[in-house]
Amino acid sequence: MHFLITAGPTREPIDPVRYLSNRSSGKMGYALAAAALEAGHEVTLVSGPVAIAAPAGVTLVSVETAQEMYDAVAGLIPAADVAIFCAAVADYRVASVAGEKIKKSEDELTLRLVKNPDILGSARGVFGFGGILVGFAAETNDLAMHALDKLRRKECDLIVANDVSRSDIAFDRDVNEVSLFFADGTREDLPFASKQEIADTLIARIVSLPRGERQ
Ligand code: C5P
Repeated sequence: MHFLITAGPTREPIDPVRYLSNRSSGKMGYALAAAALEAGHEVTLVSGPVAIAAPAGVTLVSVETAQEMYDAVAGLIPAADVAIFCAAVADYRVASVAGEKIKKSEDELTLRLVKNPDILGSARGVFGFGGILVGFAAETNDLAMHALDKLRRKECDLIVANDVSRSDIAFDRDVNEVSLFFADGTREDLPFASKQEIADTLIARIVSLPRGERQ
């Protein structure tokens, strides 16, 4: 099968030397790419700026902004059987990016932000994707409620949810503890493990999901 995986943060420019971003390391998405490859699948990885190397054998498409990630996914998703959106996409970008470095002349500076496109939310309705769709939910509270809401609204087959209020897992860690919320209403809590072990389990669950309903 052909896997399309998004990973890492996006970087939203403020001026030529500054940007808005987040703490995503890309480790979970890169582990998923390695696991899918190991299981014999073809993998295209659309990645924001990260400090880690893509596994050999993966087709890497590097992007910076959410808009660039959206455009890359729009072009690549028709060829995919499975799409896993693991990237921590910036929800907002700066409305007008300064052409020159902003000077610290004023005591206050206001940046106006506008919403970025929702890539996962566009998969079914805008891109017409009929394959297996997997989203991630990084939450600090009411994990199950938010995950189930995303599962339905974004028409996913699976939402992988983690509690990012815990400092021992998730952001920039090599370990994670996630709960899986499936479209058939079932929930599976995976034990605390390395991101690579979790990725291996996730790929096994994903390839055994029922297919064909939306294809
Ligand atoms: O709604 P929220 O941003 O928490 O949803 C997280 C899921 O949606 C993740 O799978 C993330 O990769 C995806 N997402 C996206 N495009 C956005 C925001 C989130 O693909 N603009």
